[in-house]
Amino acid sequence: MALIVHKYGGTSMGSTERIRSVAQRVAKWVRAGHQLVVVPSAMSGETNRLLGLAKDLMPSPGDAAALRELDAIAATGEQVSVGLLALALQAQGVQAVSYGGWQVPIQTDSAYTKARISRIDDARVRSDLAAGKVVVITGFQGIDPAGNVTTLGRGGSDTSAVAVAAAMNAAECLIYTDVDGVYTTDPRIVPEARRLASISFEEMLEMASLGSKVLQIRSVEFAGKYRVPVRVLSSFTPWDIPIDEEARSGTLITFEEDEKMEQAIVSGIAFNRDEAKISVIGVPDRPGIAYQILGPVADANIDIDVIIQNVSHDGRTDFSFTVHRNDYARTMDLLKAQVMPSTGAAELRGDAKICKVSIVGIGMRSHVGVASRMFRTLSEEGINIQMITTSEIKTSVVIDEKYMELAVRALHKAFELEQPANTVG
Ligand code: ASP
Ligand code: MG
Repeated sequence: MALIVHKYGGTSMGSTERIRSVAQRVAKWVRAGHQLVVVPSAMSGETNRLLGLAKDLMPSPGDAAALRELDAIAATGEQVSVGLLALALQAQGVQAVSYGGWQVPIQTDSAYTKARISRIDDARVRSDLAAGKVVVITGFQGIDPAGNVTTLGRGGSDTSAVAVAAAMNAAECLIYTDVDGVYTTDPRIVPEARRLASISFEEMLEMASLGSKVLQIRSVEFAGKYRVPVRVLSSFTPWDIPIDEEARSGTLITFEEDEKMEQAIVSGIAFNRDEAKISVIGVPDRPGIAYQILGPVADANIDIDVIIQNVSHDGRTDFSFTVHRNDYARTMDLLKAQVMPSTGAAELRGDAKICKVSIVGIGMRSHVGVASRMFRTLSEEGINIQMITTSEIKTSVVIDEKYMELAVRALHKAFELEQPANTVG
């Protein structure tokens, strides 16, 4: 008998039919002798619908008082799901009880709409489990020290589930979703993309931060910090498939030390169209200039991703960086108003039609020539690279958005990702 956490995403909870199927699947695990904590998302589309209602009444909520209400509104989606799922379980003859984040409680800080979990008190949940019940806990929400309802950011139910699994020392956290695992890249772009039987935690962290939407990045951070075994698998298999088959399906996130198999050099390709590039041309090259440009951007709470500064000519240099596309207009305005006058830069250029494509693999640590193979592949396709950034286990390039799919396909092929046990460097 093991303690297992199941998480079901919005599509898996999308209708009463789907919820019944989730209940049947959970009941199967209970009958096999396991203790189950289940963390569902809101029914698909529900969080968007709720936030849409809020937007009708206040188009751009900014202060804490308004953000507090957004969380109060958005959290109701999960509140409905847990009640429905507990009811569906009871209808299957399984004892079940539902809790909102505040009832557990799942304690968070007070950063509305992007709160962080600080502590989970598991006493109540443990006593229910000991009494033979399935415990159904809302994803996405918690409660701050002053008793306000908070939410964890879009996609936050993944994080709730992994955090509950960590707090309770669960044997495994199974994330049921509408895809059957983590792929080498998005199969909608590359039909030959392959499901990975396992992926290292560090690679998953990079993939999540670079644009793969399978797991919320914070959930991956939690998994790494507390060494929670996490598996991503499909909730669209028949609910009554044999449990040992189900337990081996999908993609397991592993920790490097556990990894005995030969590692692929590149495991996956991530991409993201959410960024925009900004260049400040002809800035005087003197100490403090990077701070003078990026300080005001950071003070405005705008996240900066890739940064490049050129070598200088005649005492002047060019400075480029990327921000989220949602922040593009605001950043340009800020630079025009503050940075251009204060630095005496010659010109400001912006480009929102870019994308970032990245290759990820822990094998890059021990193999040379991986990045150059990437650059060669792109050059053979006639794709110009605008910016490059690297870490130990990834190389990202910023290119024109219109070449994104071409680049992803060419790289997938060049690194032979369609074939298992790839060791091509
Ligand atoms: N319901 C929330 C959202 O749509 C949280 C989640 O689904 O993980 O973002
Ligand atoms: Mg999700």
